[in-house]
Order: sequence, then structure tokens, then C-alpha cells
Amino acid sequence: SLTAGIVGLPNVGKSTLFNAITKAGAEMANYPFATIDPNVGMVEVPDSRLARIDEIIPAKKIVHTTFEFTDIAGIVKGASKGEGLGNKFLENIRQVDAIVHVVRAFDDDNITSVTGTVDPQDDIETINLELIFADLDSVNKRYDRVAKVARTTKDKEAVAEFNVLEKIKPVLEAGKPVRSIEFDEEEQKIVKGLFLLTAKPVLYVANIAEESMADPDADQYFQIVRDYATQDNAEAIAISARTEEEIAELDDADKADFLAAEGVSESGLDKLIKASYSLLGLATFFTAGGPETRAWTFKKGMKAPQVAGVIHSDFERGFIRAETVSFADLDQYGSMQAVREAGRLRSEGKEYEVQDGDIIEFRFNV
Ligand code: GDP
Repeated sequence: SLTAGIVGLPNVGKSTLFNAITKAGAEMANYPFATIDPNVGMVEVPDSRLARIDEIIPAKKIVHTTFEFTDIAGIVKGASKGEGLGNKFLENIRQVDAIVHVVRAFDDDNITSVTGTVDPQDDIETINLELIFADLDSVNKRYDRVAKVARTTKDKEAVAEFNVLEKIKPVLEAGKPVRSIEFDEEEQKIVKGLFLLTAKPVLYVANIAEESMADPDADQYFQIVRDYATQDNAEAIAISARTEEEIAELDDADKADFLAAEGVSESGLDKLIKASYSLLGLATFFTAGGPETRAWTFKKGMKAPQVAGVIHSDFERGFIRAETVSFADLDQYGSMQAVREAGRLRSEGKEYEVQDGDIIEFRFNV
């Protein structure tokens, strides 16, 4: 499954945030043994639609879909030259599908920042430069070889890859990430095969002071992070890692009280989960009508049989049809009976591209 890797300089609050994720995961009723790997934290994806579906089509229990974060320890300046845990760090980033970049945005004289000051922009650039250097290294290693093959054999694939490398190289040399480049579909496939770090989507997370939580937009450090994200074609969110760690231990009712007292509607962790989910191009479909009302994750663009395979490979192999109603329709009509009478229950075939919020009953041969 797809995972987002948490990166950041030392002492910015990564472990605190990861603890919050692990604790939240430990609270998941349906996944008592969720811990597989100490570096992987599993959380439920908050989704208020589940409760509404369960109200209309009651079941014994509600099951959320889940999402994985991977904790990637220890980057330092010079990682791309193999310093510190450098190589291992870069290898770990290579294996995640998106990057959650945590930035220190709180003042605290008791906690030393590695750079001596709190400077979110400089901190972000320190890490991004290491990733850019590492990519430039990979690109340069391929460049000469591919250039030679392309020149001597005129092989179509080699020529295409060479053209992509030529497009990427000057951008990296100018200190910019590969995700800033526009590629067509053909090129995108080639880029994917290069496993470049700066081609991955990124979400910037400003770890702000607790006092700023009620109005993050007014926080001067968060403004810096947000501005940086905008020019990097990325999103930025503000959280207080320390507060999240406290919230993660509360049950739902206490959590709601706590958030109300802080003057916010949603926990930072919930915001983080949702933003990471959409960063990865993930979406949710539901099943209902049996013992459980359940949310499942699929990747946007997947067709009905593939989506059926998320539940069970037999569903994909024997796929016949997908009886589908959108959440919006079920919500509006208020019962399956009314949905049917309004002609809003659709019988979709194998070419149907599943939409976020679809409630599906799969018909399949066994
Ligand atoms: P990491 O090295 O990035 O994993 O950072 P840690 O999570 O270990 O945090 C470094 C220190 O900063 C710890 O002492 C945390 O308690 C503290 N810390 C983390 N988040 C906050 C915060 O929001 N406010 C304050 N004041 N301290 C924090």
C-alpha cells in the first residue's frame, strides 16, 4: 500500500508527531495488532460520511479505512555525500510515495535547533538541497551512458530517456526539484523509472507553537512555510505536534471537548491524514448492507474491477458489475428504496471509473 514518509531536520518535532500517529493508531478498535514495523504508523482516515451511511443502512459496526506513515530518521547536511545516516536516509525516502516534510515553527530556548535559529525557510532548503544533490547524482550517472546508447543505436527508448534527462538536468542544476517540471504522459513513465526523490509529491507541515493553534494563519513562521510551499507547487499545513501527542490519547468525546476549547474544528493529525491522502491521489469508496459499514481506499483513476480487487482478488477475477450509488445521492434520498425509485442506483460495468464517495455492491462469479 502507499505510504507517506515523514522527514525533517533533527529537533523539529518528527518523533513527537510520529508518537501521536502511533498512539492514535493504537486507539483503533478494529486493528488491535496494527504495529507491523516500528517505523510504520497506521491511522484511521477520518470520514464523517461513514456515520451518515450507517444511519441510513445500519450495521453492527463501522470500519474506517487506514493510512500509513513511515518515520524516516535523521537527515543531516551532507546526506547526499553519504554523511551521517545519509545513504540509508535517502534509500528510505526512495521507498515512500510522498514526502511529509516537518519544519520547526516554534520558539523554545530549551530546545536547540540544529542551525542555531528558528528559520523555517533555511531548514526546508537544507533538506531539499540534499535531495536535489542526490537526484543530480543519479541523473548524471545515467546521462552519459544513455546519451551514448541514444547516439549510437538511435534506440527509441534510449532517445526518449535521454530527452527526459536533458529536461531534468538543468532544473536540478538550478536548485529546483523535478516536481516543478511539466511532463507529458510518456515522459512521466520514464521519470517514474528514474526513482528520483524530488519527483515525489510533498506536503510541508509547520510544527507551530501551541499558542498559535487557534489562528495558524497569523503565525509568522507558518506564513513563511506556506509561501515556500506555494512556489514549490505544494501544500502546507500547520499543526502542534506536542498537542497532537496529547490529543491522540483521548477518546472521541474528550477529543471533541479539547478541540472546542482550543477553538479548532479538526485536529492537526486529522488534517495531516486527509492532506497526505489526497497528496497520494487516494480516494474512498464504501460498502454497506452487511454486518459492517466500511470505507476502503483506492487510487483515483482505477476502474471498477481493480477497485473490487481492493476487497478481494476473487472480486476482481470474477467481476460482473458494480451496483453503485453516490454518497451525495444516498444522503439526499435518505434510503436505498428512495434511491432506486429515483433511478439513482447505477449498474456499472468494467470500464467504469470509480468516484470518491461511491457506495458499491460488487456482483461477481466465484
Ligand atoms: P525530532 O528530532 O524531529 O524527532 O524532534 P522531537 O520530536 O524529538 O522534538 C524535539 C524536541 O522538541 C522535544 O523535546 C519535543 O518535546 C519538542 N517539541 C516538539 N514539538 C514541540 C512544540 O510544538 N512545541 C515545543 N515547545 N516543543 C516541541
